[in-house]
Amino acid sequence: LLPGSVDTAGQRATLGVLGGGQLGRMFVHAAQRLGYFTAVLEPDAKSPAGLVSHHHIQTAYDDLAGLAELARLCQAVTTEFENVPAQALQTLAQTRPVAPSAAVVGIAQNRIEEKAHFAACADVSGVTCAPYAVLETPADLQAVLDERADLLPGILKTARMGYDGKGQVRVKTTAELAAAWAELAGVACVLEKMLPLTAECSVLVARGWDGQVVSFAPQRNVHIDGILAVTHAYAGNMPSALAERARAAAVSIAQHLGYVGVLCVEFFVVEDGSEHGGLVVNEMAPRPHNSGHYTIDACDASQFDLQVHAMAGLPLPQPRQHSPAIMLNLLGDVWFGADGQRQEPDWLGVLRLPGTHLHLYGKEQARPGRKMGHLTITGPDVASVKTVARRAAELLG
Ligand code: ADP
Ligand code: MG
Repeated sequence: LLPGSVDTAGQRATLGVLGGGQLGRMFVHAAQRLGYFTAVLEPDAKSPAGLVSHHHIQTAYDDLAGLAELARLCQAVTTEFENVPAQALQTLAQTRPVAPSAAVVGIAQNRIEEKAHFAACADVSGVTCAPYAVLETPADLQAVLDERADLLPGILKTARMGYDGKGQVRVKTTAELAAAWAELAGVACVLEKMLPLTAECSVLVARGWDGQVVSFAPQRNVHIDGILAVTHAYAGNMPSALAERARAAAVSIAQHLGYVGVLCVEFFVVEDGSEHGGLVVNEMAPRPHNSGHYTIDACDASQFDLQVHAMAGLPLPQPRQHSPAIMLNLLGDVWFGADGQRQEPDWLGVLRLPGTHLHLYGKEQARPGRKMGHLTITGPDVASVKTVARRAAELLG
């Protein structure tokens, strides 16, 4: 789909996205820069992406009339929202190219299927996931209680709908495990062994309809309370042998899925190098990812540019990072002082610092834990980027 083109009926080349969050907003920005029109399907009237898109279809994600309208307006469709009903993508795929496909989104939405996929390509990818067991029935629980003491202490994770550490319970004993599963109402879960992490990283891969693959170097991520807080994106952010393995593993995972679009694969770096070779695959997101936001300011093609290129069938540029970068997530907490009163953060102070790039998502309500924006810091070298990041973090409390 050529950018900026108009067909004989006068219809503009338009890209569609299911979901109206910040990922959709940054996708819309990238698409529009290239000359595409955009359409967002999102029920919320004031969503970050809906606010900036040419078209905003304001219906539920599974509303058939809304999906038909999206298909009418767009020549290709993507999703920005991991928990979008896979059925909605299936419906759209009957008439429009959809990337990523309903099938792969379905795999990434379900930790049981996701781990089975990682296991299926472990020989090629060279990485395995943490030891785990599937809990779907009371008999599964009993079997784990009887035979899998090796998984404790562990993390019980719901198979579906988890994000930012939600739907997870840390359990130390068999009694805690039984209680936690009961608390989660006995829904399908995985119990994962708690690993001694020394670091976490993620890799962004983009793959086109024709199988062309490009990727970014791994970024190192720091999570606080299960939510991404800081991303370190520069040479030397992790040992280079591990970085190369992670990148190659992510590429093979995307290829093995026949994936089209941008995929993010998250990895753990573990202490015990002997058992797991130091690298363990955690999960994947079938879309651009919070840990890749730095690519907007630090690379000559961002993860959102690549999503646009991939879904529209354009050539995929191999992205080049031109500056070291650190990204700080701006959660709603930043809007509240020690006294609990809402106040605007010190943006002027932040913007006075060299190399700061502020991104706000246009959300009205700041709530603790809510992703309101992010700040990327770029600079001539890693040391100065770190210094500015430290000062910005101080200003933001
Ligand atoms: P989410 O879908 O919420 O991102 P994750 O599976 O990525 O779920 O877990 C969130 C965070 O919890 C991880 O980034 C990591 O910090 C921690 N975590 C998850 N699983 C494990 C594990 N098996 N061992 C140690 N820490 C873990
Ligand atoms: Mg995660």
